[in-house]
Amino acid sequence: VEEALRQSQKMEAVGQLTGGIAHDFNNMLAAVVGSLDLLRRRIGDGDPRARRYVEAAMEGSRRAAVLTQRLLAFSRQQPLRPEPVDPNRLVQGMSDLLRRSLGAGIRLETVLSGGLWKASADPNQLENVILNLAVNARDAMPEGGRLTIETANAWLDSRYASEHMGIPAGQYVQISVSDTGTGMPPDVAARAFDPFFTTKPVGQGTGLGLSMVYGFVKQTGGHVKIYSEAGQGTTVKIYLPRLSGPEAEAAPEAANAQVPRG
Ligand code: ADP
Repeated sequence: VEEALRQSQKMEAVGQLTGGIAHDFNNMLAAVVGSLDLLRRRIGDGDPRARRYVEAAMEGSRRAAVLTQRLLAFSRQQPLRPEPVDPNRLVQGMSDLLRRSLGAGIRLETVLSGGLWKASADPNQLENVILNLAVNARDAMPEGGRLTIETANAWLDSRYASEHMGIPAGQYVQISVSDTGTGMPPDVAARAFDPFFTTKPVGQGTGLGLSMVYGFVKQTGGHVKIYSEAGQGTTVKIYLPRLSGPEAEAAPEAANAQVPRG
C-alpha cells in the first residue's frame, strides 16, 4: 500500500514536471511546423522528393504535437487550488497515514503550535508534500529513528530574513519535517531539489520528490530550506504565506458584520 501510495505521489510530481516541459515543447514545435510549412510552399511542385521529406517531417511534428497536447491535458488535471488551511489540522488528519508510511521502527512526533495562523495553500498538494518529505525521512532511517513535524508562526523581519535565511521578509506559517537519519553531505544537499537527482538505487528513487516540493512551495508563494548534516539528520522547513484578509481573522458572517456602513 505504501509503495503504491508513494508511486502515485511521484506520478503527480511527474505530471507537474511534464506539464512544464510539454508547454515549452509545444512552443518550439509550433516554430518547427511553421518553418516546415514555409519550406513546403517554397518547394511547391518543383521537387517531389524534397516535398516528401518535408511532409514526413510535418507528419512527425503533428504526432509530437498530439502527444504534448495529451501531456498538457494530463498535467492540467491538477491545478493548484489555494484555500485557507489550518496546518495543525492537516497534519493531525494525516497522522494515521504517516504512521503507516513510516513503519514500525520510526516514531512520529508532532509539535503543533497554539495560535497558529492559517496558510493559503492547496491542501491536497500540501499533504502530498508532507508525505513526500516523510517518505524521504523514512528512507534515510533504515535502522529506525524519529520523525518530527513541527508547526510555528514565522514573522520574519526584513534584516533577519534576508541576511540569515535568504527569504523575503513577511509573515509565514512554518512547517518543519525533521528526521534522525543519515543526513546529506553538502554535495547532495546542493542538488537535492534538482529534478531526477537521486542517490537511491535504480527503481527506488525517481529524484522527483523534492523537486515537486520545491515546485509546490514556489507556486504557492512560499519558501523551502534544507538543513542537513551527514550523520546528524535532516530538517526541511517550509514557509507558506500566511492567509490574509477577512477569512484569516474570523468566519465570513462575523467579518461581514464588522464592515462599517456608509
Ligand atoms: P528520491 O527520494 O526519489 O531520491 P528526492 O527528490 O525526494 O528524490 O530526493 C533527492 C535526494 O535527496 C535523495 O535521493 C537523497 O539522497 C536526498 N534526500 C532527500 N531527503 C532526504 C533526507 N530526509 N535525508 C537524507 N537525504 C535525503
